[in-house]
Amino acid sequence: MRRKLAAGNWKMNGTAAALSELVELAGHLDPNDAETLICPPAPLLYRACEKTRGTSIAIGAQDCHMQTEGAFTGDVSASMIADTGASYVIVGHSERRDAHEETNGDIRKKARAAWAAGLTAIVCIGESGDDREADNTLDIIAGQLSGSVPDGATGDNTVIAYEPIWAIGTGKIPTLAQIIEVHDFIRARLIARFGDVEGNAIRLLYGGSVKPDNAAEIFTAENVDGALVGGASLKASDFAPIIKALSAS
Ligand code: PEP
Repeated sequence: MRRKLAAGNWKMNGTAAALSELVELAGHLDPNDAETLICPPAPLLYRACEKTRGTSIAIGAQDCHMQTEGAFTGDVSASMIADTGASYVIVGHSERRDAHEETNGDIRKKARAAWAAGLTAIVCIGESGDDREADNTLDIIAGQLSGSVPDGATGDNTVIAYEPIWAIGTGKIPTLAQIIEVHDFIRARLIARFGDVEGNAIRLLYGGSVKPDNAAEIFTAENVDGALVGGASLKASDFAPIIKALSAS
């Protein structure tokens, strides 16, 4: 049984005042709910961990450097993230693949760095709108999976987020059939590479314009184990119904 995971990515949004959303969110949750994770901007990580201490909300970062330390001005290592009390880190988000020209090889190294620091890596993959139109989605996904996910991935150290780039922040989402096709494909590839036990244990999240009104349908897909949510994770009043829909699925 894979534990469901609702992960919120605040991106570059929020200062200390936004931490009140964590307190409000914790008030909506009960012990039977899906695992809940918030990934705030790096300067808020420590305070977010303090604010959520004793609640069921876990905290994660949005990126880490692939090296453990050194002359990398402005970067943050995985061990620094772990030191704040955070337990997850997103790697390979499409906004970083695009704006920071991160390659599959970079992302693989970042995932390994995350593991070495004791963090669970959420590895993001997803096709562009052009890839989808050209019917290249599964080829792109296969390439990103083999390139970005290191050998040694397990259900404990890795989560995969399938995020079609054209669905992120656009209000557009794939059809349920398209979501099922890609998640089933990812599951089959993970089993083929990592074996039955770990291939079935790695959780798969769908990401891209998940909202309170479309979440329940997305969560009917067998291999969708949760969601990576951007805009709708910023407000507890939007994220809580998504978590509840996941918990009920
Ligand atoms: C994301 O940034 O990972 C994301 C899925 O954003 P949104 O939910 O806003 O589409």
